[in-house]
Amino acid sequence: PSSFAEVPHAQPIAVFQLTADFRVDPHPSKVNLGVGAFRTEDGLPWVLPVVAKTEAQLARELEESTLDHEYLPVIGHPEFTRLATQLSLGEASPGLQSGRAAGVQVIGGTGALRIGAEFLRRWWNPELGGKCPVYFSEPTWGNHLSTFRDAGFTDLRKYRYWDEACRRLALTELLEDLESAPEKSVVLLHACAHNPTGTDPTGPQWLQILDVVKRRNLFPFFDSAYQGFASGKLDEDAAAIRLFESHGLELLCAQSFSKNFGLYNERVGNLVIVARDSAALACIKSQIVLLVRAMWSNPPSHGARIVATVLGDPVLRKEWIGCVRTMAERVKLMRQQLYEKLRQLGTPGTWEHIVKQIGMFSYTGLNRAQVDFLIREKHVYLMASGRINMCALNSHNLNYVAESIHDAVT
Ligand code: PMP
Repeated sequence: PSSFAEVPHAQPIAVFQLTADFRVDPHPSKVNLGVGAFRTEDGLPWVLPVVAKTEAQLARELEESTLDHEYLPVIGHPEFTRLATQLSLGEASPGLQSGRAAGVQVIGGTGALRIGAEFLRRWWNPELGGKCPVYFSEPTWGNHLSTFRDAGFTDLRKYRYWDEACRRLALTELLEDLESAPEKSVVLLHACAHNPTGTDPTGPQWLQILDVVKRRNLFPFFDSAYQGFASGKLDEDAAAIRLFESHGLELLCAQSFSKNFGLYNERVGNLVIVARDSAALACIKSQIVLLVRAMWSNPPSHGARIVATVLGDPVLRKEWIGCVRTMAERVKLMRQQLYEKLRQLGTPGTWEHIVKQIGMFSYTGLNRAQVDFLIREKHVYLMASGRINMCALNSHNLNYVAESIHDAVT
């Protein structure tokens, strides 16, 4: 027998299992609302034209040997990390201007979370190490807990975020939970387009959160996977991070280019570090170099080159900003159309939250039984939490999905 005969089979990853179930379903009207990737009106993935153009240019440069496949520095493509960090913190960032903010190129947003967690477990609140409490919104993206747990954190806690009855942010409860967090806990904050609820704090609410984080001496770790997807505007979607920075806090931010560049499989990520002074930044970076060296040694260059080229060229950058707006607007249009269709059908319940929520997802409020009904009876696949990807809707499947939701709740 195998030496691994005792190894139990692990649970499949919910979102990928859903897609696998969808693939084998022969039903002609089947719809997959689970996957977290942009889809066009034809239900297809979208290679941003500006990305395709830049890749063609990079291919020519490789052919002409003005580019090569040498290792990148452990810390990443220098122009990529500089421009990415600037996109997140803004050109006026005090940290960037005074040389105490920088980025480290990592493997997607997930790699940024993992490397950030590995760093914090070793160097934040070192008396506690892995026993330092880490707070996550309830609900949150499924992989948040796993990345921190595998980085060695054992005390993973929740702060209330979602008011189920009113389908809105549970601000009072959120503040209460952070208020009662032990000092020097880590708190994971979604920078914008909260996954899965599609609901972000407003400007004044962020100020209240900032106030607790400061008073309780919590460490803010932002997750920025959807910059541009919430409002369609890049600066607006980075406002929370910039607010915290402007108040002098040290912070980390896991920045992903999977969604806003449509570079899901290129694993382009940047871990933004804002430190109190440039000496601290240098030490933090030097430790992160060791973590990366032992984990994957050097980051991949292709995606980072694309992002660096586009962000560094005013014409390409403008074109890219237009693509981000196109994606954000398509999501908004689908929200409007689904909402209107449900109203037309007279579907019981309130559905305004579908138009009020932002970013790629809508947290429909459909319960587990309704979700099961949709999958089994209607071949409409969605996450058990009721989360749906709005841009998986299009004019071909929208009526069918709305009618199916109607049937599920009646
Ligand atoms: N954070 C959140 C909230 C996400 O939704 C995602 C992607 N689904 C990530 C991080 C990870 O992004 P990446 O694919 O770049 O690792």
